[in-house]
Amino acid sequence: MSDVWADLVGQGEAVEVLRRAAGSAARIVTGTVTGPSAMTHAWIFTGPPGSGRSVAARAFAAALQCERDGSGCGECHGCHTALGGTHADVRFVVPDGLSIGVNEMRKLVLRASSAPSNGRWQAVVVEDADRLTEQAGNALLKAIEEPPPRTVFLLCTPSTHPDDISVTIRSRCRVIPLRQPPADAVAEVLTRRDGVKPDVAAWAAAAAQGHVGRAKRLAGDADARKRREAVLAVPRRLTGIGACFDAASALIEAAEAESASAVAETDTSERSALEQALGAGGTGRGAAGAMRGAAGQLKDLEKRQRSRATRSQRDALDRALVDLAGFYRDVLITKLKAPVAVVHSDTAEQSAAAAEKWTSESTLRRLEAVLACREAIDLNVKPKIAVEAMMVNLWRG
Ligand SMILES: [Zn+2]
Repeated sequence: MSDVWADLVGQGEAVEVLRRAAGSAARIVTGTVTGPSAMTHAWIFTGPPGSGRSVAARAFAAALQCERDGSGCGECHGCHTALGGTHADVRFVVPDGLSIGVNEMRKLVLRASSAPSNGRWQAVVVEDADRLTEQAGNALLKAIEEPPPRTVFLLCTPSTHPDDISVTIRSRCRVIPLRQPPADAVAEVLTRRDGVKPDVAAWAAAAAQGHVGRAKRLAGDADARKRREAVLAVPRRLTGIGACFDAASALIEAAEAESASAVAETDTSERSALEQALGAGGTGRGAAGAMRGAAGQLKDLEKRQRSRATRSQRDALDRALVDLAGFYRDVLITKLKAPVAVVHSDTAEQSAAAAEKWTSESTLRRLEAVLACREAIDLNVKPKIAVEAMMVNLWRG
């Protein structure tokens, strides 16, 4: 059995800092702390998508609940329940739709002000802190400025840019920067943890460009591989304006299919776990009252799942765009004879052929069109409109 840090791929330095802090936190609990503490009340985890921001926050939260000196052994009850998301003192903030509202944040801050039930730490994990509304951010800031003695806030955002997190919140937090894990570290974890064959793992890790979860899906899921192939076929499909619009619809549908398959499994297992916990189908005394409460909880769960589906669709579309950008990058580095490896080794022939045909300037314009599309969607332009505009630019070059 591996410890709570095992899934943090290629993040040695960050793990060292967090380990020391968790050890220090455990000594604060036992009252045996000596000298300056490595522990603090507010942390920000930054890094590109798939680098493991939320994995790191969750692992740290688990180590804080670890019953063996905060080592994050991965074996004790504290570690298990925290990692599994059922520990009473580890709370997760879930965005309502695409943003985290002030009411959710206030409720959470209120609950976080109570003493931890087991005498260790209360951990509040905000997985998408870049989606806090301004008001929600202010509510959080107040809590971070005067934290209850045993409460820890763990915020995950892509970067510490003011667009992602307010400067005042940032100034109160210690930042743990995660890097894009190198392909060989991702390949190693796929082989060791998931039993993927080394050659498949190496290919998937390179194709996923450092996104651990995506690499795992590419290695194990034939449908995910097919959808990626469809995305990489886009450049050669763009033969006219009609084809551009077809390709745009196909790309968006592929993203929807990808996200549906990514969330379906979790949705089903969450629902059946909740139904079981609520004793669905019971007819004994009190069953009617229990069922009324159950209906509310099921409704909450469905709401959370819907908002997760929306986010997951955006994420899937973004990944498709990253794949596509990788193709144009491959064309450019082939053209410039740059001494770096291509991202998509399986379409190297196509990118080399395109390098023969296009100028460097037009290749760069195409790469920029993909990046502009990502930015537009990030700024809430309707995905269909942004993707259509991109396809037309990719075709024109
Ligand atoms: Zn433990």
